[in-house]
Amino acid sequence: MSPFSRRDGLLHAEGVPLTQVAAAHGTPCYVYSRAALLERLAEFRQALAGRDALVCYAVKANSNLAILDQFARAGCGFDIVSGGELLRVIAAGGDPARVVFSGVGKTADEMRLALERGILCFNVESAAELERLDAVAGRLGRRAPVALRVNPDVDAKTHPYISTGLRGNKFGVAVDAALALYRRARELPHIEIAGIACHIGSQLLDPAPAAEAARKILALADRLAAEGIVLRHIDLGGGIGIRYRDETPPAIADYLAPILSLLAGRKERILFEPGRALVGNAGLLLTRIEYLKQGEEKNFAVVDAAMNDLLRPALYDAWHEILPVQVAEGDGVLYQVVGPVCESGDFLGKDRRLAVRAGDLLAVMSAGAYGMAMSSNYNSRPRAAEVLVDGERMHLARPREALDQLFASESPLPRA
Ligand SMILES: *Cc1c(COP(=O)(O)O)cnc(C)c1O
Repeated sequence: MSPFSRRDGLLHAEGVPLTQVAAAHGTPCYVYSRAALLERLAEFRQALAGRDALVCYAVKANSNLAILDQFARAGCGFDIVSGGELLRVIAAGGDPARVVFSGVGKTADEMRLALERGILCFNVESAAELERLDAVAGRLGRRAPVALRVNPDVDAKTHPYISTGLRGNKFGVAVDAALALYRRARELPHIEIAGIACHIGSQLLDPAPAAEAARKILALADRLAAEGIVLRHIDLGGGIGIRYRDETPPAIADYLAPILSLLAGRKERILFEPGRALVGNAGLLLTRIEYLKQGEEKNFAVVDAAMNDLLRPALYDAWHEILPVQVAEGDGVLYQVVGPVCESGDFLGKDRRLAVRAGDLLAVMSAGAYGMAMSSNYNSRPRAAEVLVDGERMHLARPREALDQLFASESPLPRA
C-alpha cells in the first residue's frame, strides 16, 4: 500500500494531508512516511529470515537522524562512507559494531575515528588504503577488521553515473588482484581479515547481474578458504532499484532469491547494504507553484523547489512523478516544472500535464533517497525542511535553514 494516497481529492502522507504539512512548515519540504520505511525494512528482513544476515542501511541515501533512528531502533546495521556519517549513526543511537565503512578515499582521521568507535568492518578499496589502515591501527594498538571490496566486473545495466562494478571504474579491486591483496592483508600485523564485499551499482532492476556478482565473489571466497583465509562475512552491497515511473523492480524477496540460493549451506554471515530500496519511495518533496509562465514554445510552472533541493533530474535526467496535491477540474496543459535556480538544467520534470494554478502545491514523488542528501545551498538557497509523518502525527525532523545560517560561519579578510 502506498504511504501517499488521496482522500477526498487531497494527497495525504499516511493520515496527514499535505496541505497541513505545508501550512505548518512551509515549502519546499521533504515529507517521509515512517510506516513506509519500516515496511520496506520488514520486507528485507522477511526475505532473509532464518539466515545469519545483517541489513546495513546505506546512510548516504538519506542521513537525517530521524530516519537513522528508526532503522537503529529496528536493529539495523549501517553502511557509511565518511566520518560524518559515522557520527550521525552514533548520534541516532546506531551501534558502531554494526557499521561497515565503504568508500575509496578514507582519510587517516576517518580511520582513527572508526577504529576508536569499534566498527564492524572497513570495506577496503585499494592496496594503498590497506597499508594506511594497518599503520593507523598500529598507532592505536588495534587490529582493523577488513573486507576487500572486489570489483566483479559485471554490467549492472544502470545509469553510467551509478554503475560501480565495471572494470573501468574507481571502485574496488579486481578479482585477480584481490587474491594477492588478501595474502598481503594476512601478513599485516594490524589487519584482521573479516570478510569480502562488492557493490555493483544502484537502481538495479534485474536480479541477474547481482547474482552473477555474488557467484564471482563466492568463487573467490572459496579460493581464499583453500589458502586458509577464512571469511566471517560476505557483503553483497546494495543497489536494489525502485519504481519511479514505469519500472517493474522485482519484490525484494524475488531480487534476493537467486543470490540466496547461491549462498545455501554456507557458513558466512550475509550482509546487504540497501539505501534507495528502503527510503526512496518513502519520501516526497512538497513544493508550491510560484508562477505559471507562458513561454514562446513551452509553458513553465515555476516552483519553489529547485535542483539544489532535488538534484536527480538535473544530474541523471531522472524522472520523478509530479502530482498536484489537490485535484482540479480540467485536462490541464503541458508544463516544464522548473525551479528558480539560474541554470537551464534546473528542472524537476518536463512535459507534465497538470491542471494547476499559481499557488497550488505539487508533490514530487519517490524523493526519499538521494534527495535531501544531495541538496546544497547553491544560489544561496536555504535547505528545505524535513518532516517525518507517523500516522496522524507529523514530526519536524529538520527545520528549514534560516537565511542568516547561510553565511554565519563565513568571514571576509580583515581590513588592514
Ligand atoms: C551507494 C552505496 C550503497 C547503496 O546503494 P543503493 O543503490 O542506494 O542501494 C551501498 N553500498 C555502497 C558501497 C554504496 O556506495
